[in-house]
Amino acid sequence: MSEMGLDQRKVTEVEGVGAKRAEELARLGIHRVKDLFAHFPYRYDDYRLLSPADAIHEEKATFRGLLYGEASNRWYGKNKSRLTARLEVEGVHIQVVWFNQAFLRKKLIPGKPIIVSGKWDAHRLQLTADRTFTSQADQEQQAGRLEPVYSVTDSISVTWLRKAIRRAFVQFSEEINEVLPQELLDEYRLMSRAKAMYLLHFPKGKEEGRLARRRMVYEELFLYEMRLLWHRRRQKQEEKGMSRTFDRVKLQSFIEQLPFPLTAAQNRVVQEILTDLVSKERMNRLLQGDVGSGKTVVAAICLYANYLAGFQGAMMVPTEILAEQHLRSLEPLLAPMGVRVISLTGRMIAKEKREALGQVQMGLADIVVGTHALIQEPVVFRSLGFVITDEQHRFGVNQRSLLREKGDAPDVLYMTATPIPRTLAISAYGDMDVSTIDELPAGRLPVETYWVKSGVWSRVVEFIRKQCDSGRQAYVICPLIEESEKMDLANAYSVFESITQELAPIRVGLLHGKMPPGEKEDVMKGFEANEVEVLISTTVVEVGVNVPNATVMVVYDADRFGLAQLHQLRGRVGRGGGSATCILLADPRSEMGVERMRVMTETTDGFEIARRDLELRGPGDYFGVKQSGVPDFKVADLITDFRVLEIARADAARLLAQESFYEESAYAWLRGYLHDFEKNQANLD
Ligand code: ADP
Ligand code: MG
Repeated sequence: MSEMGLDQRKVTEVEGVGAKRAEELARLGIHRVKDLFAHFPYRYDDYRLLSPADAIHEEKATFRGLLYGEASNRWYGKNKSRLTARLEVEGVHIQVVWFNQAFLRKKLIPGKPIIVSGKWDAHRLQLTADRTFTSQADQEQQAGRLEPVYSVTDSISVTWLRKAIRRAFVQFSEEINEVLPQELLDEYRLMSRAKAMYLLHFPKGKEEGRLARRRMVYEELFLYEMRLLWHRRRQKQEEKGMSRTFDRVKLQSFIEQLPFPLTAAQNRVVQEILTDLVSKERMNRLLQGDVGSGKTVVAAICLYANYLAGFQGAMMVPTEILAEQHLRSLEPLLAPMGVRVISLTGRMIAKEKREALGQVQMGLADIVVGTHALIQEPVVFRSLGFVITDEQHRFGVNQRSLLREKGDAPDVLYMTATPIPRTLAISAYGDMDVSTIDELPAGRLPVETYWVKSGVWSRVVEFIRKQCDSGRQAYVICPLIEESEKMDLANAYSVFESITQELAPIRVGLLHGKMPPGEKEDVMKGFEANEVEVLISTTVVEVGVNVPNATVMVVYDADRFGLAQLHQLRGRVGRGGGSATCILLADPRSEMGVERMRVMTETTDGFEIARRDLELRGPGDYFGVKQSGVPDFKVADLITDFRVLEIARADAARLLAQESFYEESAYAWLRGYLHDFEKNQANLD
C-alpha cells in the first residue's frame, strides 16, 4: 500500500529519539512516525513579530530588535533580580525588563539582534519579557511564528516534542502520501496532506492554520464516514435479513380502531419501519422521538405487522417498572387481535420463568416484553423476527448485539426518547437508519416549567397540596436515596419523612431503586390507582413511566441532573392531556448551572434541549463517549464542523456507490484502508 513506508517507521527512526524517549512517547499513544505527525497541537502561542506601533497595551507582544548599551541588573535579596536593557525595534527605542533572569545578562551583547516576547506597556514603551531568543538558530527556528502547544506527559516537555516533530518532518515528510481522491481535493480546493499536516503544526499565520485545519477536518470526517458506510454495506450484504409479507388490510383496520388517529409523523415512521420489514435487507433502525411523541403505539403497530407475517417479536427495556408498563400498554392493544403478549424479567420466580421460557420456545407467546433477562437467560425463540429495544442508550453496544444474535437475523429497531440533532444521529449511529417523530399528538400542552431557589420550598408544598386537593398527583424527585456524608443533597428518605408530615393527610409514597422489586411494584400500583397521591422518588421514574393523572413534577437539586434527564422527568407529567407543571429546585453555583436551568424553562422541545446541552457540554461528555461509538476526533469538532460532516457523508456515499471505486487505481489506497479497517475490527471481536 502506498503509505506502507511511513506506516512502518518507528519513532526511534527520528533523530534524537532513543529507546527511553520512545517509551515516554508511547504513553501519549505515539509509537510510529505517523503518530508523531498526527499528534496535533491543541493551541498555539502567538510569537509573531510586531512593531511597537501595532502592539496593544497590556497584551502579549513579540519584538525583534538590536540591543544598544549595556544591560544592567539589580538584585533584591538573595534570588530576586531585575534585568533591563534598551532595544531598538523598527526605529523605536523601548525598554525590556526581565525578572529573575540575571543569567541572561551575558548573552545580551550590544549591537546584536534578539527576539523578546512578553507583556507590552505602551505608555512606558516597556516590555516585560518572559521568552527571549538570543541565538540565531533559536530565532530562526522558534521565534516569530505561531508556536504549537501539545499535550504532553511529565517526562516530555513541549519544547522537546516540538523539536522531535520538526525533525520528523525534515526526515520523513516526503513519505506522507495523499489519501483523498484528486477530484475531492480539486472540488474543495484542499491542500495536500503533507502540507496540511506540516502547517497544522507550524503555521506561519492564522489563515494558513485555518486552511490546514480545514483540509484535515475534511479528511478525518470523510474517512470516518467511509468506514461507517462501508461497514453498513458489508453488514447488509452478509446478513441476509428476512423478507416478510403480512396482511395489509388487517394491519390497516388495527390502526383504524386505535383510540386516536396517528400523527403525520407517526404515520411516516410506521411506513419507514414497515418498508424495512418487507425488504430483504436486515433492519437496523433508530427511532427517535421526544417524550410523549407516541413511540409505544408505533412499536405496537410494527410488532403486530411482524405477528401477521408469522413471527415472534421481542421488546427489551432497561427496567422492571418499564417492562411492566409496556406489558400493560401493549397487551390491551394487541390481545384483542389474538396476539399473546407475555413478560420475562429477572425477578420472576423460577417456576414463572420456566413457564415463560417454554411458551417462547414453543411459540405459544407471540411477543415477549422483558429486561436484560431476555439476553441473559437461555431464551430460545421459535421464530424471532423482530426485536425492539427501548431507551437504547441505556444498553451497551455489546448487549445490543447479543440481542441481534438471538433468532435467525431478526430485524432490530432501537427506540430512544433522548433525541439528538439529525447530523449527530448520523455520526453517532452512522451504521443505522434514523427515523424521527418530530411532532407531538395534537392538543398536548407544554409542561409549564419554573426554576426556583430551594428557599421557597414551603410555597411549593402548598402548590402540591392544592393540586392533590383537586384530585391530581405529584412526583418529587431527589438525587440521592439516603443521606450522604459526602454530598449535601436532598435524599428521598428525609424528603419523604418531612413531606409526609407537611402534607398530611395526603398520602405520600416512597420509591427508589434499592427497594425489593415487589415493594417497588406495590408502590407504583398504588400511585397508578391514586392511592398514593404524592410519590417521592429517585430517577427510577425517569424512563417511560406513565401515570396520566400526575400533573406536578418537582425536582430537588435539579442542577445535579443532566438536561436530557430533566426533560425525561418532566415528560412524566401532563400525559393525560390538560396542563401540567414542573418545578425545578436549584441553587446553581456556576454560570453554566444557571444557563442550564434557563434552557429548561425556555423550551420543552427535546431536540432543542439536546442541541443546547451539546453546546454547553461538548460532544465527548454528552455522549459518554465510548459506549456511543462516537469517535474522539483528532481535529474535527462535531458541533462546529457539522456541515463538513454532512458533506463528507454525501461524498463517501457517492464514492461507494460508484463502480469505478472498486476498480480504478486512483482509489487503491482507500480500498486498502477500508480492508485494513475491517480486518482490525475482526481481530477485535
Ligand atoms: P413515548 O414516545 O414517550 O414513549 P408514549 O408512547 O408513551 O410516548 O405516548 C404518550 C401518550 O400519548 C400515551 O398516553 C399515548 O396513548 C398517547 N398517544 C400516542 N399517540 C397518540 C396520538 N396520535 N394521538 C393522541 N394520543 C397519542
Ligand atoms: Mg416510551
